[in-house]
Amino acid sequence: MTKACEDLHCQGVTIPTQPAVLPFSEARHVVEEQARRVRHGPAELAPLLRSRGRVLAEDIVADRDFPPFPRATRDGYAVRSVDLVAVPATLKIIGEVRAGRSLEGVKVGNGEAAEIMTGAPVPDGADAVVMVEYTAREGASVEVRRSVTAGENVVPTGSEARAGQLLLPRGTRMGFAEIAVAAGVGKAQVSIYRLPRVGILSTGDEIVEVEAHPGPNQIRNSNSYSLSAQVEVAGAEPVRLPIAADDPAVLKHLIEEGLGLDLLLLTGGVSMGKYDLVEQVLTEFDAEFFFTGAQIQPGRPLVFGRARQERTGRETYFFGLPGNPVSTMVTFEIFVRPLLDALCGALPGKLRFLQARLGSEVRTKTGLTRFLPAQLSGEFDRTEVELVRWQGSGDVAAMARANCFLVVPPDRERLAAGEMVSVLLR
Ligand code: AMP
Ligand code: MG
Repeated sequence: MTKACEDLHCQGVTIPTQPAVLPFSEARHVVEEQARRVRHGPAELAPLLRSRGRVLAEDIVADRDFPPFPRATRDGYAVRSVDLVAVPATLKIIGEVRAGRSLEGVKVGNGEAAEIMTGAPVPDGADAVVMVEYTAREGASVEVRRSVTAGENVVPTGSEARAGQLLLPRGTRMGFAEIAVAAGVGKAQVSIYRLPRVGILSTGDEIVEVEAHPGPNQIRNSNSYSLSAQVEVAGAEPVRLPIAADDPAVLKHLIEEGLGLDLLLLTGGVSMGKYDLVEQVLTEFDAEFFFTGAQIQPGRPLVFGRARQERTGRETYFFGLPGNPVSTMVTFEIFVRPLLDALCGALPGKLRFLQARLGSEVRTKTGLTRFLPAQLSGEFDRTEVELVRWQGSGDVAAMARANCFLVVPPDRERLAAGEMVSVLLR
């Protein structure tokens, strides 16, 4: 139960509140709802290649028809399909069209053909291209052995896009195909949104920096690193804050700093332990909690909300992620991503699951949606998924051996070998 709920009860007010620990899909929905309200940063102009992984701040439209001319897709002869109803047929060659050139003023007439190369404009009069493999040249004529249908091996002008047509809406995340589209319309520079800055705050008395020589009971801070990498993959800028001890004053100071960024991610200190202080300290920043746990494994202890920086009054979203490294990684992927995408200016997207055949039977308990480290293997149509052997949510090495998560719905206690199951790629 959240502090906020407790307060409501203290005041004797009976406002129906959402359950604090939500089923997976509801928790995800809550994040998606909040994601719709966040604002992205300002736009900046960048050289096209620097836009990879970033989000478009402008619409990209076709500057002309695509293709700009009827394009031959094969090497061969531009012909009139009616001339090849009966084959073999002999046609007179009236010229050659190479890519980048055209047969200006020449029209392919009755019984005629023009030699043509892939990527060249199909000359007037012709309505198809017959592949060179089905022809035999004899001096100034060509014998064609196969019929063609009108339009065969020709991409008509403007069939891919008309001039002025929207190709990439603002909010598109730029990958290699999107970069090709922008290049194709002449955008050497594109307008993209500024990177959101994401504060990463690891907590725990036992946590030490990676450079430190850990004492026998200490643990190196791997979460700040995995989260930084995940933030970067998501197209944002990580800001690693110092490790916070399980001490309210230290935590308060660092949370105040983190709330000055665009998003604050905390790890550890959100379970029920005596020194799990994150939730409590956040309430000192007028925190509103949207949920305080999700019915998932790994990653059950988890808080999501919004708090106010004391110094500036600025409101910032935060996630208190579990400290267990695998839980931290999973909860980032399934809950933090949509909010971070919105801060990047990206159009909202859904979590995409793939289906794969299960290699060996999986038994679990019902009640939680599970995201278990797994390995997709095999190739082509024989892809199989198997759980990776792991020691639980602290086992980072097992996670590194996994290339996906096997998703077990909350109502299943057994998945049979050979069954099609849901998989979330990582
Ligand atoms: P907590 O959520 O604080 O109870 O931590 C759960 C487990 O995760 C404990 O075994 C911690 O030592 C471990 N842990 C917490 N934070 C980190 C971190 N930053 N890096 C690696 N392990 C961590
Ligand atoms: Mg801790």
